Amino acid sequence: MSSTIAFIGLGNMGGSMAANLVKAGYSVRAYDLSPAALNQAQAAGCYAASSALDCISSAQTVITMLTSGEIVEQLYLHDPGLFNQLSPTTLVIDCSTIAPQNSQHLAQCAAAKKLRCIDAPVSGGTAGAAAATLTFICGGEADDVALAKPILLSMGQQVFHAGGAGAGQIAKACNNMLLAIQMAGTAEALQMGVNSGLDASTLSEIMHNSSGNNWVLDKYNPYPGVMPQAPASHQYQPGFMVKLMLKDLAIAMQTAQHSRSDTPLGLHAQQLFEQLQSSHPDYGDKDFSSIQRLYQPPQTN
Ligand code: NAD
Repeated sequence: MSSTIAFIGLGNMGGSMAANLVKAGYSVRAYDLSPAALNQAQAAGCYAASSALDCISSAQTVITMLTSGEIVEQLYLHDPGLFNQLSPTTLVIDCSTIAPQNSQHLAQCAAAKKLRCIDAPVSGGTAGAAAATLTFICGGEADDVALAKPILLSMGQQVFHAGGAGAGQIAKACNNMLLAIQMAGTAEALQMGVNSGLDASTLSEIMHNSSGNNWVLDKYNPYPGVMPQAPASHQYQPGFMVKLMLKDLAIAMQTAQHSRSDTPLGLHAQQLFEQLQSSHPDYGDKDFSSIQRLYQPPQTN
């Protein structure tokens, strides 16, 4: 077992994931640009590194959980350029959701340095990250995915190997495009019921037990007050930010273009989330279930 793990990116997802690695017995060196995130990781038992370079020192495995392909490429390839500092055979697991092309480029650069590198974006949200029930969707060499598997299972319950480098990101783009459509569709149906005089909780229960059931109704209801633990019942505090869903929808639309796929519903979901973000300066940082607000009559906003 690779016992020392460097973990970079301790936000809504990464903070809990690093803490779960500590619980599983790994020695975790953690780093984030945010001092508050770093302090929390330290309280969870991680070593708080002073820089990304300090973080990777003596680590046999590096995990990143960052917000964009630009940030991931910058960190590994340019500034500080971690790939130049890692010993050959180090296992690099990038769990960020980024474009497949970014992951493929990283894999090529890693191979040139004899590093083992996989893309391993996740599904399951912040609740899944906290409860160590995430699903990991991997792209890369089968041997490297197998090497990563015990580590990933300390943070989740399922590990899928979708194919070669970038395949994890393609599968994740398909999943999140469907999630965006489901979230918007569920909000739309709920609002129509409420506007027609139904109670949101009763309607949710009916659809949850009927053919409209989906992951959003099961775990992430967008209507305030229906699920006490959901972001909707906490002023849409994330969770999964609208700006991150828009990043994923942009990746999905690029993937559709590259594969010559028709995705009219995905495109429409992207337009709805863009409309939500531009409707209020704060909405980019709100949870993506706040799409419910787009459907609410103006007086209840
Ligand atoms: P977040 O914004 O909460 O966390 C990102 C963290 O990275 C922040 O703490 C930030 O300070 C840190 N960071 C940024 N640049 C850095 C750098 N150069 N060095 C060190 N730290 C840096 O985002 P999140 O919600 O945790 O999402 C992370 C990734 O996981 C994204 O790609 C997102 O799309 C994906 N994801 C999120 C969810 C979710 O429910 N939040 C679910 C699945 C996948």
